[in-house]
Amino acid sequence: MNIIDLHCDTVLLCFTEHRDLRSAGGHIDLRKLKAGGCLAQCFAVFVPTQDSAVHYLGRIVDPWDLYRQMTAAYRELLSGASDVIRPALSAGEVLENSRKGFLSSILTIEDAVELEGKLERLDALYADGVRMIALTWNYENCVGYPNSPDPALHCRRGLKPFGFEAVERMNELGIIVDVSHLSEAGFYDVARRSKKPFIASHSGCRALKDHPRNLTDDQLRAIGDSGGVVGVIFNDVFLSDRGGTTEIGDVVRHVLHVRDHAGMDSIAFGSDFDGIGSRLAFQDYSGFPMILRALERHFTDDEIDRISHGNFLRVFSAQEGSRRLSTSL
Ligand SMILES: [Zn+2]
Repeated sequence: MNIIDLHCDTVLLCFTEHRDLRSAGGHIDLRKLKAGGCLAQCFAVFVPTQDSAVHYLGRIVDPWDLYRQMTAAYRELLSGASDVIRPALSAGEVLENSRKGFLSSILTIEDAVELEGKLERLDALYADGVRMIALTWNYENCVGYPNSPDPALHCRRGLKPFGFEAVERMNELGIIVDVSHLSEAGFYDVARRSKKPFIASHSGCRALKDHPRNLTDDQLRAIGDSGGVVGVIFNDVFLSDRGGTTEIGDVVRHVLHVRDHAGMDSIAFGSDFDGIGSRLAFQDYSGFPMILRALERHFTDDEIDRISHGNFLRVFSAQEGSRRLSTSL
């Protein structure tokens, strides 16, 4: 199966509930990762600010302090699970871990607020092992503006001057630029400026569900043109108007739509596990094989390999420069 899932909020869950990767109790734990066929999981460090900080932490915390605390918590989670899962800092390390019988963990960030306008912090994040950053969450930050239900704001307010510098530095370092949560104007700023393939780690298709977090057909094409991928989200808020439960058919519809507009090489999974409030017809991570079985009606085995891990490994290895990598397992 060899799944690479581009986004989950399990670190925040474990941080706030004082749990480890064996006892996490949500959509993801070590047993569920193995049962679901995990090759690598992207673990996001989400740095809550403003209302979300009060909601998750009960107080406002300095973003840089919180980043340090949460990456320390991430390292602790992994050191307690090193018999099963190991960090991977490159596509090659994902494959190497797999050959040795380990799952891989890729450290990512949701909300670049902790940069606080300091470009050198990107170097510190890279040294910490961060390999992907979602430029915003749902608030304005030093990089730019988030998605908005107001079309005038959504389409007009993009990256700030520091945001353009940050994209360039991320390209140089080899940190993947993630546009999920960004405004549409910010998206096109990234599309114009990024020299490397960029991604939407956890998003849906706007043509199927009208939500400003979702990508229009033109945005899907722009990601395809960049050589990037869209991680199809499993959160029902972004999948259907029905609401309440995410059905496997909802995920399949969005996967097919990404294929039709971004292309076969731009499909991936970005579950948002442990950040989803609704019910899942496939329960949790261990239900991934049910999704793949449903995709078998529409895709060949080779295409399912590209969706489940090959497309993302291509994007990940492209961040490292011109070095080519065979993504076969
Ligand atoms: Zn998110």
